[in-house]
Amino acid sequence: MSFSTLGLAPSLLNAVTEIGFQEPTAIQRAAIPAILRGEDVLGAAQTGSGKTAAFALPLLQSMVEKRKWPRKLHGLVLVPTRELAAQVGESISKLAEHLNEPVKLAVVFGGVSINPQMMALRGSADIVVATPGRLLDLIDHNALDISHTRMLVLDEADRLLDLGFSEELNRILELLPKQRQSLFFSATFPPAVQALADSMLHQPSRIEV
Ligand code: AMP
Repeated sequence: MSFSTLGLAPSLLNAVTEIGFQEPTAIQRAAIPAILRGEDVLGAAQTGSGKTAAFALPLLQSMVEKRKWPRKLHGLVLVPTRELAAQVGESISKLAEHLNEPVKLAVVFGGVSINPQMMALRGSADIVVATPGRLLDLIDHNALDISHTRMLVLDEADRLLDLGFSEELNRILELLPKQRQSLFFSATFPPAVQALADSMLHQPSRIEV
């Protein structure tokens, strides 16, 4: 099976080729068409499964297709740790590099000074990768408005809850528009994770790999 059967636009297929991915992984085969159809997705997937590209490719595609002026935040990717924020940001920017138009990506996390992150968000971003606490700090500083976000991604939802981000997540969910596409990835689904998924997702496609 090749990437060309998944519904990706030529510019994204080109990015995949340039990066050197030859065949989609199982989660990419299942998730990419569902996300491109606009469905919410509940993905049970481990690190190493290729889940980052599984959400990043359709996220970039919908961003390029639906981008309007004035630019509003298109995609918000919430992750549990600064390491994962950096890693996911790097994966998205590698794919975005090969697109014909610039994508403004901001990666924000706690434990470092907030000022450079406030500067980076000036003039708005297309995609923000964030840890929940720092995202809320930036919103409280009026550095970011998430009220028009089209696509929300929760990556490693079980770790987000393990690290105690439940309250932050609930506040963030209240600030997001009701009408949005939501993608939820977790390695495990204990009751609290399932409850969060149920509260966030609308008739999701369930994908297990
Ligand atoms: P992830 O599970 O998203 O952390 O990805 C794990 C690793 O697999 C990363 O280094 C990706 O660059 C790589 N990867 C993702 N998709 C593919 C693919 N279709 N073919 C080859 N490598 C891939």
